[in-house]
Amino acid sequence: MRSFLYQRATDPSMAVQALSAAAAANNPLTQAAAQPLAGGTTLIDLMKLDVMRPTAIVDINSLAQGWSAIEPGGESLRLGALAKMSDVAAHDEIQRSYPVIANSLKLAASAQLRNMATLSGNVMQRTRCSYFRDVSYENCNKRRPGSGCAAMDGVNRMHAVLGTSDQCIATYPGDFAQALIALDAIVEITGKAGTRGMPFAQLHKAPASSPEIETTLQPGELISGFTVSGRWPRSVYLKVRDRQSYEFALSSAAVALDVQDGVIRDARVALGGVATVPWRAREAEALLKGQKFDEALAQRAADAAFADARGRQHNSFKIALGKRVVARALQQAVMMEI
Ligand code: FAD
Ligand code: SF4
Repeated sequence: MRSFLYQRATDPSMAVQALSAAAAANNPLTQAAAQPLAGGTTLIDLMKLDVMRPTAIVDINSLAQGWSAIEPGGESLRLGALAKMSDVAAHDEIQRSYPVIANSLKLAASAQLRNMATLSGNVMQRTRCSYFRDVSYENCNKRRPGSGCAAMDGVNRMHAVLGTSDQCIATYPGDFAQALIALDAIVEITGKAGTRGMPFAQLHKAPASSPEIETTLQPGELISGFTVSGRWPRSVYLKVRDRQSYEFALSSAAVALDVQDGVIRDARVALGGVATVPWRAREAEALLKGQKFDEALAQRAADAAFADARGRQHNSFKIALGKRVVARALQQAVMMEI
């Protein structure tokens, strides 16, 4: 591992200052120079692999006291950025009122990782594209802008079928983000000017012509929390993977429904494992709203969710699989006893 400056944040403004100063001293575009350290379960891996080479690390774990609350209110939810994945997944009220959140976290990684890892680290994790994670491959636009993409004509079984560009087809790997985007969550961002809220849907950037820029966070900015309005007891996270534990999604769906007298009044559908960013399937939602549920409707919604999908040599199976995952998740949500 390369040498780096380690600083322990004493409070949020010190963390923001330290990160901003380190970013300004280096390349503010990629933000690679300065990284906050939360659970370290993915950042340290990437540093050991020499994929990420930050010159400064700001350890934000000392902010956990103020930033790890799990606060389900009557009609809203606030989660601190540094809450542990395992604590949120096991929380009774989260399981009751937001099962899509609880399950997206419970089905991620392993028990040991979930005990260590934080919500903010989870949403900020980087792709598992094997060409990105192996520096012996020269061609990776995300790691080395302008160098090409080894995955395009390489082994692309795990890669994305939605939101891709001719620069990058890497899949966004996390699970929790799908639950957040489906529930219209707000991400709280703390920076030099204080704390602001932004729709979570605006946090991640599709690769387009600059896959190295993955989020809209500015240098020095930190995620301090997430909020969700309403309660979503009729919600499901369904994840299909190569093995039943300790594995990233081949395809997943976060579904939340509001059903009254058999009619779907509101529908939220988000997809994981198949897109370059946490993916909201609004076309599917539009088909579902105002309808009575049956299998044909679920199939039409699933088809709509993947209407723009583009498969490649090894990953076209994800389109058929993803449609089945959406249809089954919808069915599971409708059948929940609330
Ligand atoms: P860190 O490693 O500390 O940080 C990750 C990134 O987030 C860093 O770039 C860091 O600078 C940034 N960051 C952290 N906090 C903030 C903040 N507050 N503001 C701004 N930036 C911040 N995840 C899944 O979702 N599903 C899986 O199935 C899954 N399987 C896994 C299997 C393995 C073998 C491993 C190693 C990981 C797996 N993961 C999976 C990923 C795992 O969930 C993440 O490693 C973890 O959530 C990261 O959290 P952390 O707190 O350790 O983050
Ligand atoms: Fe790099 Fe993206 Fe291509 Fe993977 S898919 S090799 S991350 S440019």
